[in-house]
Amino acid sequence: MDALQQLAADAAPQEICGILLGVENRVTGHIPTTNISPSPERHFEIDPAQLIQAERTMREGGAAILGYYHSHPLGNVRPSSTDAESAAADGRLWLIVNGTDAALWRAVPNGEIFGRFDKVAMDCLLID
Ligand SMILES: [Zn+2]
Repeated sequence: MDALQQLAADAAPQEICGILLGVENRVTGHIPTTNISPSPERHFEIDPAQLIQAERTMREGGAAILGYYHSHPLGNVRPSSTDAESAAADGRLWLIVNGTDAALWRAVPNGEIFGRFDKVAMDCLLID
Protein backbone atom coordinates (compact mmCIF):
# COMPACT_ATOMS: atom_id res chain seq x y z
CA MET A 1 0.00 0.00 0.00
CA ASP A 2 2.83 2.40 0.80
CA ALA A 3 4.36 1.71 -2.61
CA LEU A 4 1.06 2.34 -4.40
CA GLN A 5 0.42 5.58 -2.53
CA GLN A 6 3.92 6.77 -3.42
CA LEU A 7 3.38 5.92 -7.09
CA ALA A 8 0.05 7.78 -7.03
CA ALA A 9 1.55 10.86 -5.37
CA ASP A 10 4.51 10.94 -7.75
CA ALA A 11 2.30 10.64 -10.85
CA ALA A 12 -0.30 13.26 -9.86
CA PRO A 13 -2.06 14.99 -11.56
CA GLN A 14 -2.09 11.93 -13.81
CA GLU A 15 -3.79 8.70 -12.76
CA ILE A 16 -1.73 5.58 -12.22
CA CYS A 17 -3.04 2.09 -12.85
CA GLY A 18 -1.99 -1.49 -12.48
CA ILE A 19 -2.83 -5.06 -11.62
CA LEU A 20 -3.31 -6.58 -8.16
CA LEU A 21 -1.83 -10.05 -7.61
CA GLY A 22 -2.47 -12.44 -4.79
CA VAL A 23 -4.04 -15.54 -3.37
CA GLU A 24 -7.72 -15.89 -2.51
CA ASN A 25 -8.62 -12.59 -0.82
CA ARG A 26 -5.07 -11.51 0.02
CA VAL A 27 -3.31 -9.05 -2.26
CA THR A 28 0.40 -9.82 -2.11
CA GLY A 29 1.79 -7.84 -5.00
CA HIS A 30 1.11 -5.51 -7.87
CA ILE A 31 2.23 -4.83 -11.41
CA PRO A 32 2.35 -1.17 -12.39
CA THR A 33 1.04 -0.71 -15.94
CA THR A 34 1.09 2.14 -18.40
CA ASN A 35 -1.96 4.40 -18.37
CA ILE A 36 -2.70 4.63 -22.09
CA SER A 37 -5.78 6.85 -21.70
CA PRO A 38 -5.60 9.93 -23.96
CA SER A 39 -6.67 12.01 -20.93
CA PRO A 40 -4.71 10.48 -18.03
CA GLU A 41 -5.60 13.37 -15.71
CA ARG A 42 -9.19 12.18 -15.70
CA HIS A 43 -9.21 8.54 -16.80
CA PHE A 44 -7.14 5.42 -16.88
CA GLU A 45 -6.80 2.56 -19.27
CA ILE A 46 -4.47 -0.33 -18.55
CA ASP A 47 -2.19 -1.16 -21.48
CA PRO A 48 -3.89 -4.28 -22.91
CA ALA A 49 -0.56 -5.86 -23.83
CA GLN A 50 0.51 -5.71 -20.18
CA LEU A 51 -2.81 -7.18 -19.09
CA ILE A 52 -2.51 -10.04 -21.57
CA GLN A 53 1.01 -10.72 -20.32
CA ALA A 54 -0.20 -10.87 -16.72
CA GLU A 55 -3.08 -13.20 -17.69
CA ARG A 56 -0.59 -15.46 -19.47
CA THR A 57 1.73 -15.53 -16.46
CA MET A 58 -1.22 -16.44 -14.23
CA ARG A 59 -2.24 -19.32 -16.51
CA GLU A 60 1.32 -20.60 -16.41
CA GLY A 61 1.10 -20.90 -12.63
CA GLY A 62 2.07 -17.42 -11.49
CA ALA A 63 0.22 -15.31 -8.93
CA ALA A 64 -3.49 -14.88 -9.56
CA ILE A 65 -4.88 -11.59 -10.82
CA LEU A 66 -7.24 -10.44 -8.07
CA GLY A 67 -8.11 -7.15 -9.68
CA TYR A 68 -6.86 -3.71 -10.59
CA TYR A 69 -5.83 -0.47 -8.98
CA HIS A 70 -5.85 3.11 -10.11
CA SER A 71 -5.58 6.53 -8.56
CA HIS A 72 -7.88 9.50 -8.25
CA PRO A 73 -5.41 12.40 -7.93
CA LEU A 74 -8.18 14.81 -6.93
CA GLY A 75 -9.00 12.81 -3.86
CA ASN A 76 -12.28 10.89 -3.80
CA VAL A 77 -11.55 7.17 -3.58
CA ARG A 78 -15.08 6.14 -4.54
CA PRO A 79 -15.51 4.67 -8.04
CA SER A 80 -16.62 7.19 -10.65
CA SER A 81 -19.49 6.56 -13.05
CA THR A 82 -16.84 6.08 -15.73
CA ASP A 83 -15.20 3.39 -13.59
CA ALA A 84 -18.56 1.63 -13.34
CA GLU A 85 -19.10 1.81 -17.09
CA SER A 86 -15.70 0.32 -17.81
CA ALA A 87 -15.79 -2.41 -15.16
CA ALA A 88 -16.86 -5.92 -16.02
CA ALA A 89 -19.01 -7.52 -13.31
CA ASP A 90 -16.41 -10.24 -12.91
CA GLY A 91 -15.97 -10.24 -9.14
CA ARG A 92 -12.49 -8.75 -9.36
CA LEU A 93 -11.26 -6.15 -6.89
CA TRP A 94 -10.84 -2.49 -7.69
CA LEU A 95 -8.49 -0.60 -5.38
CA ILE A 96 -8.61 3.19 -5.62
CA VAL A 97 -5.87 5.27 -4.02
CA ASN A 98 -5.24 9.02 -3.91
CA GLY A 99 -1.78 9.27 -2.39
CA THR A 100 -2.98 8.98 1.21
CA ASP A 101 -6.38 7.29 1.39
CA ALA A 102 -7.53 4.08 -0.23
CA ALA A 103 -10.75 2.13 -0.68
CA LEU A 104 -11.40 -1.32 -2.03
CA TRP A 105 -14.37 -2.31 -4.19
CA ARG A 106 -15.57 -5.44 -5.92
CA ALA A 107 -17.06 -5.30 -9.42
CA VAL A 108 -20.34 -7.19 -9.27
CA PRO A 109 -23.72 -7.25 -11.02
CA ASN A 110 -26.20 -4.95 -9.24
CA GLY A 111 -23.57 -3.35 -7.00
CA GLU A 112 -24.49 -0.59 -4.54
CA ILE A 113 -22.34 2.03 -6.33
CA PHE A 114 -23.52 2.85 -9.86
CA GLY A 115 -24.93 -0.66 -10.05
CA ARG A 116 -21.46 -2.11 -10.36
CA PHE A 117 -19.37 -1.88 -7.17
CA ASP A 118 -19.73 -3.13 -3.61
CA LYS A 119 -17.37 -1.84 -0.94
CA VAL A 120 -14.96 -4.41 0.48
CA ALA A 121 -13.41 -4.25 3.95
CA MET A 122 -9.64 -4.02 3.82
CA ASP A 123 -6.82 -4.63 6.29
CA CYS A 124 -3.18 -3.87 5.60
CA LEU A 125 -0.77 -6.33 7.20
CA LEU A 126 2.96 -5.89 7.54
CA ILE A 127 4.66 -9.11 6.46
CA ASP A 128 8.31 -9.79 7.18
ZN1 LIG B 1 -11.59 5.94 -11.20
